[in-house]
Amino acid sequence: MNITVRKFDALIIGAGGAGLRAALQLSNADARVAVVSKVFPTRSHTVAAQGGVNAALANVLPDSWHWHMFDTIKGSDYLGDQDAIEYMCRAAPKVVYELEHFGVPFSRLDNGTIYQRAFGGQSQNFGQDQAARTCAAADRTGHAILHSLYQQNLRARTHFFDEYFAVDLIKDDQGYVLGVVAFEILTGKPIVIEAKTTLIATGGAGQIFRTNTNALSNTGDGMAMALRAGVPLEDMEFVQFHPTGIAGRGMLITEGARGEGGFLINGEGERFMERYAPKVKDLASRDVVSRAIAVEIREGRGCGRNKDHALLDLRHLGADTIMKKLPGIREMTLTFLGLDPIEQPIPVFPTCHYSMGGIPTNRDGQVVVPVKDTPEDPVPGLYAAGEAACVSVHGANRLGGNSLLDILVFGRAAANHILEYLGENPHHRALPQDSVDRALERLARWDREGEGEAVEPLRRELRKVMEDHCGVFRTAEVMREGVAKLQTLRERIDQAVIRDHTQTFNTARVEALELENLWDCAIATMHSALGREESRGAHSRVDFTERDDERWLKHSLYSLQDDALDYKPVRTQPLTVESFPPKKRVY
Ligand SMILES: Cc1cc2nc3c(=O)[nH]c(=O)nc-3n(C[C@H](O)[C@H](O)[C@H](O)COP(=O)(O)OP(=O)(O)OC[C@H]3O[C@@H](n4cnc5c(N)ncnc54)[C@H](O)[C@@H]3O)c2cc1C
Repeated sequence: MNITVRKFDALIIGAGGAGLRAALQLSNADARVAVVSKVFPTRSHTVAAQGGVNAALANVLPDSWHWHMFDTIKGSDYLGDQDAIEYMCRAAPKVVYELEHFGVPFSRLDNGTIYQRAFGGQSQNFGQDQAARTCAAADRTGHAILHSLYQQNLRARTHFFDEYFAVDLIKDDQGYVLGVVAFEILTGKPIVIEAKTTLIATGGAGQIFRTNTNALSNTGDGMAMALRAGVPLEDMEFVQFHPTGIAGRGMLITEGARGEGGFLINGEGERFMERYAPKVKDLASRDVVSRAIAVEIREGRGCGRNKDHALLDLRHLGADTIMKKLPGIREMTLTFLGLDPIEQPIPVFPTCHYSMGGIPTNRDGQVVVPVKDTPEDPVPGLYAAGEAACVSVHGANRLGGNSLLDILVFGRAAANHILEYLGENPHHRALPQDSVDRALERLARWDREGEGEAVEPLRRELRKVMEDHCGVFRTAEVMREGVAKLQTLRERIDQAVIRDHTQTFNTARVEALELENLWDCAIATMHSALGREESRGAHSRVDFTERDDERWLKHSLYSLQDDALDYKPVRTQPLTVESFPPKKRVY
């Protein structure tokens, strides 16, 4: 087959905040940069981020990066790598001011500085009083950031492959990653994008769960590509369930709603968070609030006819605050529930929100794999950043407002390292045809038509298996059943067909490839969760209810070959300050 080949210095897969921040840094340094995105760039999930981005600017209350660092480590249930966390928290004010200069229209305080709101898990003085650290553009912060970054990239002449689907990485026998095989979704035409460096910025894998807050496009493609290229995935058992998804629908009500003073009530009208987190109540860390809601419902104190949700009450905030600070939330509940939060509380339930795990990287964004005797070795030419990556700054539980920060800080850091790498590796290496052929074969497999199961029902089943067998509370027995169900599903996926090739825009083929990626991420999550016999952060085992630092203060690494689970130590040594040793986590 005659395939178009395009060559670049740097290829970025994904046009969310992580991809675009990296691309801008590279284009501004005159590198030849291509960004591939399966959706139009400004439709990437970053656009949906509501609440804001954390930085210790101290515009509203006193603050310091060191307190931010402590909160992040505590929030991570001590599984986060402290060097990366220090790096991120120190860089935060700088990246936020950069955004301001790129044109992000942040909300303002009366004195003209950036508005900051309180979010869960934030404190002053290492756990004393509530802090206000989240910089916000009303409740549409992600929208403002993504659009500004996209416009800046257009100005910097970044090359965009819009609505192209990346299938698999190209790797030579020396282990160098040299780009990707992709196809244009509109025409189905394959293309080889060759590059000296490749950055995976494909976002999270929230779609492995039936109820989630994520965009339909968050199918973990980059994570699955890495797995297939022999890179293990780190800490996949840690999936964040956001406490306030709209019940039954999954759409997100930002934590900012509680940050502005909203609170949760149960079926008896009680503010139950007072019992679970006496000090900070509704602004406890997300894993804590999600579990509290699940327990209230399980013990019969849910709301509604079926007692199957909690209520988020904003009424006391008043119309003025709701219209000014949370206009997007009001619009959403009006549109999807016909409910006005000024007059009625919102039905909520924990919903899958964020992948803490992902492709293992160091704080330069280099993808690193453990090798015997040395703790980690970079895969030459391969980088990852954003939700697809695991640096790990979020450990076992991410704090609200820290993900937008993560994508900006590490998108930028990865780009800086790529520039160094390009200086040392100025030439393209020979293209390994066998690797290209393997990706093309995977693509061609979804040309099959005729009798057989269709893709969509299989996808629905997969998501249901994850929800039923790997949800907020987990046990070995239930997860073992889950593994067996996933394995049977895999055999059926391998036999599945595309019913209708005439479908416009090749959406059927995209969905089939996504299903394979979802399965890879799902099995990684299930096996990693089964392996970890303790409860830490978002991972709650009914059969191992305590955190066990002696056995489990380590990151998991799952490889597709033989379903192998390996572990690597947590980096507990920060860069310049003293380490924060594990403590009991109370809020
Ligand atoms: C509803 C919601 C609200 C949130 N609110 C906040 C908040 O207030 N504060 C905060 O800090 N965090 C928030 N988060 C989390 C945060 O927004 C995300 O973690 C972050 O934006 C992810 O950015 P990203 O660049 O890694 O990926 P994304 O923005 O998800 O972008 C992924 C990109 O990869 C591309 N892609 C994927 N697969 C392929 C493929 N196979 N081929 C080609 N392209 C591909 C997509 O087209 C897309 O461009 C929120 C998340 C959600 C879902």
